Amino acid sequence: MSQVQIKRPGEADRVTVEALDENGHRFVTGGELGFTEGSVLYKARCCFDCGIVRRADGQNKACRGRVSVEVRAA
Ligand SMILES: [Zn+2]
Repeated sequence: MSQVQIKRPGEADRVTVEALDENGHRFVTGGELGFTEGSVLYKARCCFDCGIVRRADGQNKACRGRVSVEVRAA
């Protein structure tokens, strides 16, 4: 596990969460990224760096690195 700092929309301070390291990805949950409970991504694990959604079997390809992940306003 590693720690990532997330800046959520509408929150002044970054929050530190534990990420799951796998194939170069750092997976955090959509909820931790700021998706609301109504979102299908809320409970999904997404890579903090490339934004890919983690497969349940863990067989995602290697992380391709940093892209911007934006949370749309509801
Ligand atoms: Zn990734």
